[in-house]
This record gives sequence, C-alpha cells and structure tokens, in this order.
Amino acid sequence: MRILIKDGHVWNGESFFLSDVLTNNEGIECISKHINQNADYTIDAKGKFVLPGLIDAHTHLCGISSIDIGAQAEMACFPFGVTATADAEGIYGCKERLNFLAVKNTVFAKALIENDNVNIDDIKQKLNKYGEKAVGIKIFFDAQDPNVRSAKPLRQICEFASANSLIVMVHPINAPIPMAELLDNLKTGDILTHPFHGGNNNAADDNYISIVEAKRRGVIMDLGFEGFVNTNLSFMQDAIAMGIEPDIISTDLTKVSLCMRGGKYGLTMCMSVAKKMGMSDEAIFKAVTSTPARVLGKGGEWGCLKEGRCADIAIIDYADEGFDLTDMFGNHISSNYGYKCMFTISNGNVVYRM
Ligand SMILES: [Zn+2]
Repeated sequence: MRILIKDGHVWNGESFFLSDVLTNNEGIECISKHINQNADYTIDAKGKFVLPGLIDAHTHLCGISSIDIGAQAEMACFPFGVTATADAEGIYGCKERLNFLAVKNTVFAKALIENDNVNIDDIKQKLNKYGEKAVGIKIFFDAQDPNVRSAKPLRQICEFASANSLIVMVHPINAPIPMAELLDNLKTGDILTHPFHGGNNNAADDNYISIVEAKRRGVIMDLGFEGFVNTNLSFMQDAIAMGIEPDIISTDLTKVSLCMRGGKYGLTMCMSVAKKMGMSDEAIFKAVTSTPARVLGKGGEWGCLKEGRCADIAIIDYADEGFDLTDMFGNHISSNYGYKCMFTISNGNVVYRM
C-alpha cells in the first residue's frame, strides 16, 4: 500500500515546509516537493497540516488504568490523529495486553500510597509486569485521599524514581503542600500534570512563579486538560497570556470525558483550546509530537516525520470544528473553529478518515 499525500503544510516535529509525502507499506519512502510516483491512494492535503501521528501523553485506557472508566484505546486515539499514547495510571493489564493495542503505547505505573507511605514493593511488581512499556511512576498526590497527608510519599517516589532512571508524573490537585514545595521535589524530565488545576495549592497561588522556575529546570508541564475538574480555564488562560505554556498537550481522557462532549473530546479539542488561548501552531504541534516523544524516551521514533521511519501520520485541518466548554468553576470558552482530524495513518494504513 502506497499513499501519496499532496501539497500539505508539513510539520516534521521541528519545522514547517510545503511538501508531498509518500508512504510505502509501513514506512515513509519520500518527503519532497512534487512527488510524481504512482500510489494506491492519493490524498489532496492542500491547505491542511500534515503531521507525524500525534502523541497523547496522558490517557486512561480500558484494562490498563481502569476496567470501568478507561477508554477503548483505538477509539480514544485514531479519530483525533493520535497514533501513540501513554496510560497515566497503570494498575491493570500487563506488557502483553499493551502489545496487543494497535495504538503505540507506554505506561506510568500507579503508586499505591498507604498511611502516608508509598508501597515500594507494589511499584516494583507493577514495573515488572509492564516491562519496557513502563516509562515512569504516577502519583496521585491529593490530600482528599486520607492516605496522603504530607510531602513524604512524594519524596519517597522521587527517590525511588531517581535511583531507577524513571520519570515521575505528579497529579497535584489538592496537594497537601504548596506548589513551590511540591515542584522542588521534581527533577529535570519529571512531569507535573494538570499544572492549571483549580484545587487547593494551585499554581495561581504564587502567580505561577513556581511553575516558571520549575520549567527553567526542565520539569515538564503536561496539560492533562480534561477541562472540567482538572483544568481551571481561567488559570490556563492567564498562564498562557503570561507566556507560560504547557510543554505537552494531553487529554487525560476516560470513556466518560470521551463521550461527554458529543463524542468530540480528544486531543484535537485540547489543541483547539490552546490555540484559542493564544498558543501558536508551532508551539501546539511541538506539544503533541516532538516534546512528548522526547519526554517518553521515544525521540526520533515517535513524533517525527522523516524518510525511513514508520508511516504514522495525522492530516489536520483548521476548520469549522467548534467547541463550547464550561469548567466546574464556571469559566467558559467557546469557538466556532478548531483543529479537525481529516486522516489518521498508522503503520501505513488509513485507520481514520473524516
Ligand atoms: Zn489522569
């Protein structure tokens, strides 16, 4: 199967240029202007963006995060241009189950906290069952959980992760300590998800100063949008207006949020919100391709469009794909326009078309 994508506005993970793209079976054969070779299928991409398959670095998949509310992986990803994902709450399943998904994937093993202590044996067991699929550890650092009462479990996780070359992803909503103290525990490459949450001890408390300082040290801000509980739209808007942008744009989707907005909730909607709030196409595309690839240890493999690499491609239009969102704090945002996935190609096969 050879697919020829004509006249697209290509983003290769690093820069924009006008080009054709030709796939051959599972790989990308050629990226060049005016490709005249025969193809089985030709797509006119004039006026549209041609990107590497997008990466949703914060999802909750059925059978991995949750049996009950996890989303079916392919239906949560392919309609939104996503060809690779990270599950942010690995509890169930195993490496073999993840290998079976058509969407490329990694997982953050979820830390079990008991009586203000991390159960390290439990983490070791989870890391063992996910094998090389595990890129890090997720901690729900939320004092509404009676087991979370101090900075101790976060410190324990960070020490264990450092010693084992793993990333820490922290869910900080209603953390028992202020944002600045929380972020002091994170090293370069660790991830703060939901950086614009509206719960207790949020980033607006110190006017985002601790977020700016942590970003300077290379701590990664993962949007984990969700857009109801986990992001205060007003905080996100204020931060972006101050030039404090998320490094990674991700959904935090479950099967509930996936369906809540008429089946339209996915990575493209999160990108559309970021654009409406003032982020550039370049910053948004980086945040769904090359940056999450690098952070997840998949740089050069995921999130880049290059000859010889896997044919994972998203063709995206900026079109009449509106959204209308209200968060739990009563903030509202809407637009008549947004990013709309036209085609998703995974391993050289069209797995979604508009
Ligand atoms: Zn989540």
